[in-house]
Amino acid sequence: STADIGLIGLAVMGSNLALNIAEKGYTIAVHNRSSGRIDEFVAEAREQGLDGKTIAKYDLADFVQSVKRPRSIIIMVKAGKPVDDMIEQLLPLLEPGDAIIECGNSLFTDTQRRFDYLTPKGIGYLGVGVSGGEEGARHGPSIMVGGSKEQWHNAEAVLTAISAKFNGEPCCAYLGEGGAGHFVKTIHNGIEYGDMQMIAEVYGVMRDGLGMNPKACAEVFKEWNKGPLNSYLIEITGHVLEAVDEETGRPLVELILDKAGQKGTGVWSAIAAQQMGVPATAIEGAVAARSISARKDERVAAEAAYGKRADKKADVTLADLEKALLAGKIVSYAQGFAVIAKASEENGWGLPLSIIAKIWRAGCIIRSRFLDQMSAAYAKGEATNLLMVPDFIALMKDSHPSLRKVVAAAATAEFPMICLSAALSYFDSYRQAQGTANLIQGQRDFFGAHGFEIVGRGTDLHGKWPSTLGN
Ligand code: NDP
Repeated sequence: STADIGLIGLAVMGSNLALNIAEKGYTIAVHNRSSGRIDEFVAEAREQGLDGKTIAKYDLADFVQSVKRPRSIIIMVKAGKPVDDMIEQLLPLLEPGDAIIECGNSLFTDTQRRFDYLTPKGIGYLGVGVSGGEEGARHGPSIMVGGSKEQWHNAEAVLTAISAKFNGEPCCAYLGEGGAGHFVKTIHNGIEYGDMQMIAEVYGVMRDGLGMNPKACAEVFKEWNKGPLNSYLIEITGHVLEAVDEETGRPLVELILDKAGQKGTGVWSAIAAQQMGVPATAIEGAVAARSISARKDERVAAEAAYGKRADKKADVTLADLEKALLAGKIVSYAQGFAVIAKASEENGWGLPLSIIAKIWRAGCIIRSRFLDQMSAAYAKGEATNLLMVPDFIALMKDSHPSLRKVVAAAATAEFPMICLSAALSYFDSYRQAQGTANLIQGQRDFFGAHGFEIVGRGTDLHGKWPSTLGN
């Protein structure tokens, strides 16, 4: 056995992770179900001068044998059943003390189940969230680790070596037992959905409410990338907007069909939030917006039924839009981190919020200057809701009037703003000491005798409601 580590699944993510690992000086054995991808990987490794550090194995048993004991085997196959199938195929070939490191976008409850299944068999299991797409996998992703601490210590050196670095600090951390790593990756993706949707909503105002062409929009995003919104997603938005279609010479963005895809992590985030009773309206709004976008035919029919939106200008400035985006982002991250905090409490994971913000500062899709501020703010005191962290109270006080102005202008000029308006309503509900649920409680008691509380008088009180109604 000569390989330090093994990897199965040589599609986009797996092959790039394997090259990254080889480049850091580790010898890696690789395997894939279909041999064609193994051939491609071998050629790629040779081209990049990394063939001396890679061992390609076409047979699974040979592959396992080629890894030094105790073995660490990374699985990077399609999420879902293929992961379970792969585990079953590996089990008879592994020995106690060996470990599986599953790095796909797995549902955290699946990860927890696999962890509980393998632990009594003496096989270690790490469920690891990897973010950063192809480029990140090759040159440094953000890595969120969950599972047993012992296995983490075995894999720590290699995972840390291949991770992205922010000011020299690795964007890789052990977060907690079982499904903790995949849970945090899921919420990362949920937050990513929110960021993308809010950017798209602001683009809608620029395009239809301010009459800006894609090139002009691109310039604004480039400018914003120098300020508080500085982030990977703002940067790539500028590039997407300025791209030109070679065939027609037109802005590419105008040719791309307005139907967004989704693979599940946004939905999982929203479901987890709902199940735990944590409001995450920005993530929910972003998921809903993608679902509405996908129903193109229905939207076309509805526009015909109701007529096109009136061609009204939006009464906002670019400075308003920038600040609205910042305020929406604060709310969205506040919600995402509140979901993480609650899951941590329910599962006993002890998730460190400031470290999570820290390992998202580089490598991943939501990397930003904002996260650097956030990790510093959380490190000062662990208020779980970002809206109650002192530095962010100041930022929000400064930016929420712009969010209000933009959402109001959008409503008047007939622009959809599912995500930004949800963020604003959450903020207004969150900071409202006297809400309106007193009426809900009255209604619930009326029809269901559910009882209500009157401060100073007691709980589970009932009203004397009329027994018959007019109709
Ligand atoms: P895919 O999700 O497209 O999966 C393809 C790989 O899975 C191939 O190696 C394929 O083998 C293998 N596979 C599929 N079914 C089976 C099976 N039943 N048994 C054995 N192997 C199987 O690959 P990606 O590289 O895009 O993603 C890998 C994982 O990483 C996924 O969980 C994905 O969600 C996640 N991820 C992806 C990102 C991205 O940007 N693409 C970013 C972050 C995470 P074969 O060649 O034989 O078909």
